[in-house]
Order: sequence, then C-alpha cells, then structure tokens
Amino acid sequence: MADKSKETCAHPSCHCAAAKDSKYCSAFCEKNAGHPDIACACGHPACETTAHAGSRINAT
Ligand SMILES: [Zn+2]
Ligand SMILES: [Zn+2]
Repeated sequence: MADKSKETCAHPSCHCAAAKDSKYCSAFCEKNAGHPDIACACGHPACETTAHAGSRINAT
C-alpha cells in the first residue's frame, strides 16, 4: 500500500513532503513556485542533495 495520504511539495524541483496545511513544504517553495527551473533550496536534506546533483550552475 502506498501512502497516498502524503502529498509531495508542489514545487517541481522539490521532493519533500508538503506541510499538512499547504501544497508546499516550506515558504521557499511557495515563493518560488513560478520558478521551476531553479533548484530547490528549501533547506531540507533531501533537496540539498538534489541541488548538488542536478544543478546546472558551475560552482567553483
Ligand atoms: Zn525542497
Ligand atoms: Zn518544497
């Protein structure tokens, strides 16, 4: 059984679980919902990993 009760954050680049009373996991995702091209930086560990792996930014 998959836990369908858990909703994923509505931000395209975010893989976190959304907050109970929100489509998003954090204020960051809510503010940047219109910018799906940026890496999620909500601060959750899962997204920090994703940002490093899938970023197009050439960090030094
Ligand atoms: Zn996130
Ligand atoms: Zn999020």
